[in-house]
Amino acid sequence: VREGGPQADPPKEPRRRVALTHPDRIYWPGEGITKEGLADYYAQVWPRIAPFVTGRPLALLRCPGGIKGQRFFQKHAWKGISKHIALVKDPKAKAEEAMIAINDLDGLMALVQSAALEIHPWGSTVADWDHPDTITMDLDPGEGVAWEAVIAGAQEVRQRLSDAGLEGFVKTSGGKGLHVVAPLTPKADWPAVKAFTKALAEAMAADSPDAYVSTITKSKRKGRILIDYLRNQRGMTAVAAYSTRARPGAAVSMPVGWDELDQIGPDYFTLTNTPARLDALTRDPWEDFRPAARPLDFKPPRARKR
Ligand code: ATP
Ligand code: MN
Ligand code: MN
Repeated sequence: VREGGPQADPPKEPRRRVALTHPDRIYWPGEGITKEGLADYYAQVWPRIAPFVTGRPLALLRCPGGIKGQRFFQKHAWKGISKHIALVKDPKAKAEEAMIAINDLDGLMALVQSAALEIHPWGSTVADWDHPDTITMDLDPGEGVAWEAVIAGAQEVRQRLSDAGLEGFVKTSGGKGLHVVAPLTPKADWPAVKAFTKALAEAMAADSPDAYVSTITKSKRKGRILIDYLRNQRGMTAVAAYSTRARPGAAVSMPVGWDELDQIGPDYFTLTNTPARLDALTRDPWEDFRPAARPLDFKPPRARKR
């Protein structure tokens, strides 16, 4: 119920303290989605996206002219950056260049204002840069791979994570594939997490060489799924849950339930249909994401001497 009586203009919601310049600028021309439309989307999903984008170093895909214009992948602070964006210093970086993080909705709105059409967090937080709290296994289907095969690949990743005592959650990438994401209690360091994810990907490729590859050699990917474990290295990023993608169709990376996968595709959820999906959800399939965190306990197998 709005105050002010029937004669008064409905007041604009005082939601945003970050002013948007050029709110009518078109970011996704195919869908007619503007900068203001992007701000509205993030305001709506804020409670759900917050745990995935706050308090961690971020890389941004910035597209000031929308998805058809120039784009740059930005990992550091820039001149004139909003005061709502936190400048953070990588304790291991030699250069003085600041990296960026956000702490609240104003920060997210400042990212919108700076035309960040994709948000790519690290798998660790600014509270503990060197001990990841998230694993992301990125399944990249090569040409000709059926969606059912991508689902099967994700389920196999989930099973192998489970064998290691970790719980895998799945989200669409908003592009072509799926991401299986496992919460970690920050304890193992980056080299240990990378070694674990590499071993997982290599075991899948060794056990099913017709279905999976673990190296990025393009020629080997036709008809196979790349189990891309390289998101799990210090300084690498993966697109955040609920982040928009700077691609035609305005898809978002959407957390889903394992039982939903056969009813959707990797770009099924979009900026347009997401608010209705979230309203209709009786239970968030990622509700237990953070409580499911466990420490990684992995000793890389010693290379056999020949
Ligand atoms: P898809 O399902 O289409 O594969 P995706 O998000 O998984 O979608 P990938 O190409 O598999 O896309 O992953 C690329 C990853 O590399 C992104 O998640 C991002 O964090 C990172 N990345 C993207 N662009 C750059 C860039 N220009 N420089 C460095 N890293 C990037
Ligand atoms: Mn991918
Ligand atoms: Mn990839």
